[in-house]
Amino acid sequence: MPSPLLNTTSCQSLNEIIQKIPKDPFWLPLIEVLTYGSLLAIDPRGPLPTYLHQLFGPDPLDVPHFLSHTAFSPTLTGRHATSLIVADILSSTRRSRITAHPSRSKEEDEISAAQLLLSTSKPLYRGTGQGVWNFISPRLDKLYAIPEFVTDLSNRQEVLEIGPASVNIMPCAAIADLHHDVGYGVATLVQGAKLWILYPPTPANLDALCLSYSQTSATHQAAIFANFRRLKNGIVFVQPQNTTLLVPPFCAHAVFTLQTSVLVGREVYSKRKFVQRLENERVQVAWTRAEQNTERRERDVREQMRHLKVVLKTEDMGEREKMLRAWDVVVQNGALESLAEGMKCKLEEWKKIWVTATRGWIECPVCKVKCEEGNDEKGQRRVLRSKKMEVGFGEHFGIVHWRNAKR
Ligand SMILES: [Zn+2]
Repeated sequence: MPSPLLNTTSCQSLNEIIQKIPKDPFWLPLIEVLTYGSLLAIDPRGPLPTYLHQLFGPDPLDVPHFLSHTAFSPTLTGRHATSLIVADILSSTRRSRITAHPSRSKEEDEISAAQLLLSTSKPLYRGTGQGVWNFISPRLDKLYAIPEFVTDLSNRQEVLEIGPASVNIMPCAAIADLHHDVGYGVATLVQGAKLWILYPPTPANLDALCLSYSQTSATHQAAIFANFRRLKNGIVFVQPQNTTLLVPPFCAHAVFTLQTSVLVGREVYSKRKFVQRLENERVQVAWTRAEQNTERRERDVREQMRHLKVVLKTEDMGEREKMLRAWDVVVQNGALESLAEGMKCKLEEWKKIWVTATRGWIECPVCKVKCEEGNDEKGQRRVLRSKKMEVGFGEHFGIVHWRNAKR
């Protein structure tokens, strides 16, 4: 079926993108963002120009771009993907929960999710405006190839975790509102067309993102419309079907569904981005407060604890120093305490991880004092009062790097 939007591959300039947006009052707020948002239209197929690295970071993986990646072989159609999802729902013993978002009522959500699944082949299907988010699909997971960059990271033992394949099915005109992800996002558009707006992870942009999380929207208007003027140096492009986008961690983004879409993706956590995650704990705290989803928060904290155990094993003094400095920030700005609020996992568990994982450390990478057995926190020789006392770096950590954890 021909659609005025189908030829999205040729979108290069901001004007061209604006021309592609349907002339419907619904899209006016998006056109306002595109017109006044100081956004830069980019071609994510690369090669990526230097100024993008200046904005997003020096590493190729710091810049959002399309990966040259065969995600599904043979190419997966939207229809096939949908049938696999339905098969997952039917075969699941614990009935994989599939529901529409934003939620209205259980009954309404289930009906609109079902209707959406039956309508993925209609590019301009709008339905209730609700989408199916984050459905974990074991069948798609099996077929979904791991991108080369993940294999490379994995060969260098830099991968902490590779998340399962999850699917977002969105009707035309649905918005994935302003948010961030903590891992590398890999997002394959099996069907449809999406307009992405992404911002570099600068401290100022992350402040603006925290602010947007803290606003409770009484108008149900998407946060991107109220906040785009505060966010700087954003980029915009249209993702056509059968492309795979890399979304670097902590790049705030909002995604507009121009055509009913099936997006399959997964998150990849790497050691090299763990310090960034620690440093930006406040963003995660703001997000979890907005979500009010205790189960998800608990999972998030557990995940970080798992990753911390691994990254602390490094022999590299520079890495140790970066980690401990980031830790000091999290403790001092109160983010750690806020994160632990109402959690089953207690604050003390963090300390235990540090003390256990750093048993071999003989020097504090930040204070630069020797922390061998029998030295005090200033590195002075002294007699141990009790055999039960923590000794070495663990003791130093407790005295110097933990003292502000509880106020
Ligand atoms: Zn120290």
